[in-house]
Amino acid sequence: MGWILLFLEWLVDWARGTYWYLFGRRSGLCKGTISPLGPLVVDQNKKDRLLRKGTHTKYAVVGHPQTMDALFLHHSKRGVYYPKGGASEIPYHVIQVLEKHGGRVLVNAPVSSILADGKQSAYGVTVKAGGKDVEVLAPVTISNAGVFTTFKKLLPPEFQANPEVQGYLHTLKPGKGFFQVFAGFNATMEELGISSTNIRLYKSNNMDEMMEEYFDSDKDIAPDNIPMMYVSFPSAKDPTSCTRFPGQSRMVIHTMVNPKWFEQWHNVSEPERGEEYEKYKRRFANHLFDWACVHFPKLKEKLAMLHAVTPINMHGLRATYGSMLSAEHSLERYQPLNIAMTRCNTPVKNLYLSGQDVFSGGYSGALHGGLLCASTVMDHCLYIDLLLQQKKLKRKVVKKVE
Ligand SMILES: Cc1cc2nc3c(=O)[nH]c(=O)nc-3n(C[C@H](O)[C@H](O)[C@H](O)COP(=O)(O)OP(=O)(O)OC[C@H]3O[C@@H](n4cnc5c(N)ncnc54)[C@H](O)[C@@H]3O)c2cc1C
Repeated sequence: MGWILLFLEWLVDWARGTYWYLFGRRSGLCKGTISPLGPLVVDQNKKDRLLRKGTHTKYAVVGHPQTMDALFLHHSKRGVYYPKGGASEIPYHVIQVLEKHGGRVLVNAPVSSILADGKQSAYGVTVKAGGKDVEVLAPVTISNAGVFTTFKKLLPPEFQANPEVQGYLHTLKPGKGFFQVFAGFNATMEELGISSTNIRLYKSNNMDEMMEEYFDSDKDIAPDNIPMMYVSFPSAKDPTSCTRFPGQSRMVIHTMVNPKWFEQWHNVSEPERGEEYEKYKRRFANHLFDWACVHFPKLKEKLAMLHAVTPINMHGLRATYGSMLSAEHSLERYQPLNIAMTRCNTPVKNLYLSGQDVFSGGYSGALHGGLLCASTVMDHCLYIDLLLQQKKLKRKVVKKVE
């Protein structure tokens, strides 16, 4: 029964996609989805030129790192979602469900090691809580801290030498470092001329070549040659924002950077990084902000705060290589053999991996990573249960409406 439902779901999804492709608009089968507010490339001539040109075969064949952009565009072309009330709503609701079912959630409690015995079997973790190391014993240990942190930092060194663990580590490569700008404005979205549409800007159509040149560039010239950025306005997406923060708006800009440019400040605490670090960081932030102002000129005069986050700040989030998406999203990663290698079960018995490294980056990637991991631990495909649950909920909603 489950498989029939799964097939029907796929069929409906395929029909939606075909309709979208043929007619360029949503079919009646897409009632629950939100379409993007505007096309991704607004200039029709540019769009035609780009389509005629196609993908640069040299790079398409070799498979260079901009696979993430392709994945991202595919993922967002039928519209994206934003949680009402902001991203903190996600842990807020998840924690309530966990606690309702007997779980305990610790925050500000770094795990210093995964406990494992001589039989290559994990049996819990050591957590820093209240200034003390506390051992939490468990029959199953799940890590979403990323494959590099889990294997290189948290497992005892003798496990890292295990050839199977090494094989695992060689399958994935560390992702690109991220640089973010968070800006606040004393104006509404209407006053600023902004909307909920996400914008990705590139200085060249040959993304791979452009990114390679940038990553190879000298530290001193890099801040003036940023070739791409992603701009979004979280406050414009959140309908509760205008009541929670009246007369205010927020913008987030993401770009990628080579963590080497920030290496000299690595292992130096934030207050001790000094003026040179601040100035260097500001150069990236100002360049990105000015670029955003080309498209949204009203931003400049209403700016109230600008905060920049470098890959070494990302270490505060415990992202080992300063990448918010953890492992690199290259074509190599998505080769069938590599996909088969990056499983939730690990060479260490009772230790499982979850999150974005076992599926793909981003929130939905991490969500699927979690589902795959739970299915592995329970030895039961939870996707089918979820699909049936979704049908049940939909029927309930329909009944309510009727
Ligand atoms: C500013 C920002 C904006 C983003 N916007 C979007 C977006 O709009 N859409 C989208 O899809 N994705 C977005 N992302 C990416 C998204 O947040 C990640 O892809 C996703 O959270 C990955 O989930 P995860 O569970 O795999 O890992 P994470 O969310 O990184 O969770 C890993 C957790 O493990 C913790 N941890 C690591 N080591 C230890 C340790 N030793 N002890 C205890 N805890 C540890 C970390 O602190 C972290 O909380 C954004 C990320 C950032 C930083």
